[in-house]
Amino acid sequence: MSKGIIQLLPEVVANQIAAGEVIQRPASVVKELLENSIDAGADKIRLNIKDAGKTLIQIIDNGSGMNDSDAKACFLRHATSKITSADDLFSISTKGFRGEALASIASIAHVQLKTKMEENEMGTEVEMEGGKVIASQACQSSKGTQISVKNLFYNVPARRKFLKSDSIENRHILDEFIRVALIHPEISLVLTLNDKEEYHLTKGNFKQRIIALFGKNYNDKLVPVEETTDIVHIQGFILKPEYSKKTRGEQFFFANKRFIKHAYLHHAISDSFADLIPDNSFPSYFIEILVNPANIDVNIHPTKTEIKFLDEKSIYAILKATIKKSLNQYSVAPTLDFNRETSFDTPLKKGEPIKIPEIKINREYNPFSKPSVSGNDSSVWEKSSLSGYKKSENKGAQPWEKLYDSEVSKTSSDYTNSIFEKDAKQESVFSNEENNHTPSFFKQIKLQYILSENSKGLILIDQKRAHERVLFEHFLNELAKQDKKPQIQQLLFPETIELNSIENTLIEAMLPDLLNLGFDISLFGKNTYVINGIPSEFQQVNPKVILEELLEDYQFQKDKSKLNPHEILAKNLAKNMAIKYGQELQKEEMQTLYEQLFLCSAPLLSPSGYPTILQLSYSDLEKRFQ
Ligand code: ADP
Ligand code: MG
Repeated sequence: MSKGIIQLLPEVVANQIAAGEVIQRPASVVKELLENSIDAGADKIRLNIKDAGKTLIQIIDNGSGMNDSDAKACFLRHATSKITSADDLFSISTKGFRGEALASIASIAHVQLKTKMEENEMGTEVEMEGGKVIASQACQSSKGTQISVKNLFYNVPARRKFLKSDSIENRHILDEFIRVALIHPEISLVLTLNDKEEYHLTKGNFKQRIIALFGKNYNDKLVPVEETTDIVHIQGFILKPEYSKKTRGEQFFFANKRFIKHAYLHHAISDSFADLIPDNSFPSYFIEILVNPANIDVNIHPTKTEIKFLDEKSIYAILKATIKKSLNQYSVAPTLDFNRETSFDTPLKKGEPIKIPEIKINREYNPFSKPSVSGNDSSVWEKSSLSGYKKSENKGAQPWEKLYDSEVSKTSSDYTNSIFEKDAKQESVFSNEENNHTPSFFKQIKLQYILSENSKGLILIDQKRAHERVLFEHFLNELAKQDKKPQIQQLLFPETIELNSIENTLIEAMLPDLLNLGFDISLFGKNTYVINGIPSEFQQVNPKVILEELLEDYQFQKDKSKLNPHEILAKNLAKNMAIKYGQELQKEEMQTLYEQLFLCSAPLLSPSGYPTILQLSYSDLEKRFQ
């Protein structure tokens, strides 16, 4: 009978193999040690790094410490104080729970541990080599734990060889440090690299911690985010869209105090920014969510930054709505009362559909009308040619019509669903103070900007970008309407347009939306389309040019997934239809643009993400004259 060939791996070898998964580089040790100190309740942690962690990674904390027997046991595989049964897995609130880290580290480095519990007179000192205790003794020590990890991978040359340059390994260490530091502003943290103090972080709140890590100038860049529902609590900060970066900026997402990467939820955030930032830039955010640990799938490797939520779809929807709300709240647009936001104040019952917070802005606010005017009086507002409504009783409206080359359609029953139209409730979004504040002047400057004022100071509006924003939201609303009958202006001389094969597939995909907007386009022959009609709003435009530009831009932007097809279409139409620089505007035109801009849900940025408004407050003005 032949001898069985299966044998159990020696403990040390098993630990080394486990170490390969848990510890890839010095930064992984940093992460594990920091997490252990936090789990031990420390509120002061010092981390000393030498030679990018290749020579020394030392952590000193003031946490609970360990007693004599735990000081030795902690290096055993599956030694953990954090769970005792499989049931505990569903309520984990600590960072570690597998009891793998210290065993792994001790199997591939020289480790010294010094630890003392408050109630004990003496502490314990343990020295490990190759996963074995080589010395242990009682020692003098203050409360807490000190661990020194020396000569990482000394016995795994293949691993050591794969370590990168000190600057790269330091970068990884800093990344881990920052992730932990960000989400634990209640802990003071010091980091030294080769005896030089890199960070000295005092206790504070989340915002103060972000500023301490990323610089004072973040103070003005951050916009708070907060929402509480039955299934998730969201809080944190986003960077104002104009500070988005060309490279992936600071994108920090934490779940239950743990840094995670989550492509799906990241999408919820980046999508909220989509029409506010240029196509090739990335938003920055520091978002933390808290969910019941029971709603997280724990069956995922603890050192991996992935995580699975049981209710991802709802969290996605809530997150996106919350970010959008914040984006719309921060503002130099003081005329909007953003506090009218609905909140999740009604607790959710299980199985009830999630209520998404919406931005409620009264697009029907009529700056001309007295509060007593009935909202259903349709004679007050009429659809202007392109972008909204003008006041028909204003007899001096010709310049406005010129602006949009319009013919006012007086019986626009097709537009009764338009959210630009007023509804019965004539609630003003303007606070009372602002309500009384109609700008007293509009002055066009360089045929490019509109100088005006609001209650806070002077404002400069970029005429083209502002109009793009107004049109963009208008088109989006039009596109969102199902089953509406578009108003088509039939062309006297239909235009044909020849397309290449790429454009051909594009237009096929866009056709339903184009028809919905009022483009009457049909296939004429192979790769040739005929344009019979265009939306009645687009009067003095060359339909062929519009369509060609649309296709070109569309093609260019299609691959960038940040915008959905409606947004791309609306954005390009807005770009092509907006008033240009160099176009002279009458006072009424400027005033209408001003009003319509502030009725937008995101008035401060053009659809491409550039500022539409600059504000100079009166207090700033006074300061500058001092
Ligand atoms: P885990 O964190 O998954 O429990 P580790 O191997 O990281 O496993 O740590 C093993 C145990 O050692 C922990 O459960 C904890 O009881 C103890 N321990 C580790 N580091 C510290 C520390 N800094 N202070 C107090 N106890 C610690
Ligand atoms: Mg641990």
